[in-house]
Amino acid sequence: MKSPVRVRFAPSPTGFFHIGSARTALFNWLYARHTGGKFILRIEDTDKERNSAEFLQVILDSMRWLGMDWDEGPEVGGDFGPYFQSQRTELYRAKLKELVDKGKAYEKDGAWWLRLEGARSMVFDDHLKKEIEKVSAAPMVLQDLVRGRVERAEDRDFVIFRSNGEPVFHFVNVVDDIEMKITHVIRGEDHLSNTSKHLEIFKAFGVTPPEYAHIPLILKTDGPGKMSKRDRGALIEEYQQRHYLPAAVRNYLCLLGWTPTDGREVLPIEDIISQFELSAIHQSNARFDERKMAHINTQTLRALPADELNALAKPILSAAHLIDESLSSQRLAEVLAIVQEKIISLEHLPEFVGFFFTNSFKKDENALANLTKKGGDPRARIQELLPHLESCAWTEGGLESAFNAAASAHQRKPTDFFAPARFATSGQGGGPHLLGVLRVLGRDTTLARLKSFIA
Ligand code: GLU
Repeated sequence: MKSPVRVRFAPSPTGFFHIGSARTALFNWLYARHTGGKFILRIEDTDKERNSAEFLQVILDSMRWLGMDWDEGPEVGGDFGPYFQSQRTELYRAKLKELVDKGKAYEKDGAWWLRLEGARSMVFDDHLKKEIEKVSAAPMVLQDLVRGRVERAEDRDFVIFRSNGEPVFHFVNVVDDIEMKITHVIRGEDHLSNTSKHLEIFKAFGVTPPEYAHIPLILKTDGPGKMSKRDRGALIEEYQQRHYLPAAVRNYLCLLGWTPTDGREVLPIEDIISQFELSAIHQSNARFDERKMAHINTQTLRALPADELNALAKPILSAAHLIDESLSSQRLAEVLAIVQEKIISLEHLPEFVGFFFTNSFKKDENALANLTKKGGDPRARIQELLPHLESCAWTEGGLESAFNAAASAHQRKPTDFFAPARFATSGQGGGPHLLGVLRVLGRDTTLARLKSFIA
């Protein structure tokens, strides 16, 4: 029987949490959840100069925000800790000694080297401008779950512990994968070139290596380059600040190198988990597409259950000073119910619904300019409409009859009155269904705004 799946995400907290790291974490998490295995978070913080507590916190917060819970790791614990490499130095020393005792590692110039197996000869190295020892080691053959067969030979011994006493990335990475009983290494393709070294270290320990899945790079929106931390839209934190829905960001990340089998692009995480297979990860590079992410966010937002939308909207509108504690949750729910089908992003929620809560709402100049194009003088239209609204029942049916009555009284189309009424009450050129807007605004507010528009 195969041992249960244990995968890990192993970030180095040397910078903010970006799209690429989040996608690697996510693919590990999905695979663990798909197989019923364990998802381990291991912090690769051996580079003391470049690691910071602030960056670690960003990683933990962003992972939680995206809903990626880890079964073992920082703040959670587990049987294979500590989960910070900076706290595992004793172990690394002991494992180095093990290799030295076996004759697989040796000391030279203060550093510790892994001894490759193979025929040795001295060759002149053009780059180093000196004679070096070359090893004709057998190529390492990797059957990568994404890339397929990859063959590569290391041709010289390499350092695993530096002369300053600090272990090298390759060494601690493999030691921890062994000690933490990792069964699958799912990581970015930029690590593919390291894998032959890693396989050599596994071989030196006499341990069967895990399965590998090297996932494709994420290219920036335009051009051939890889998405970097400096590219626009690269940081997860940014989406959090812009009130993107975490489920939407996560959904989009899943599409960077993987396609749901049922053909849907916007789908619940449970369905993604059940469909996710490492063998279905694309070999070709993915391309970051901010517009697609925004689109998925919009779709997810419009499908959100009302109570979730209300809970998310409340702090955003409070922060924009549009609502306070005195606003009833029923009133908020009423407003959100009519805007939900038209909303693009919670980021723009204050501008989108502000006019429901304040009389000093912003007026869209373009909308004002467009008003006269259709239906003639907007003030005249409001003048004609007003008496019909003053006497109608304040329901969508009643409002509709009032628009119809104004139209037939002045030989016009009901729609001639729509844009002026919308602008006069909301300052906008578009938005949710107008009759719904007026119903929710209420009779008093609507009539007052129409009157002040004429005046
Ligand atoms: N600390 C490495 C990184 O951040 C992890 C490499 C791996 O996943 O094996 O890229």
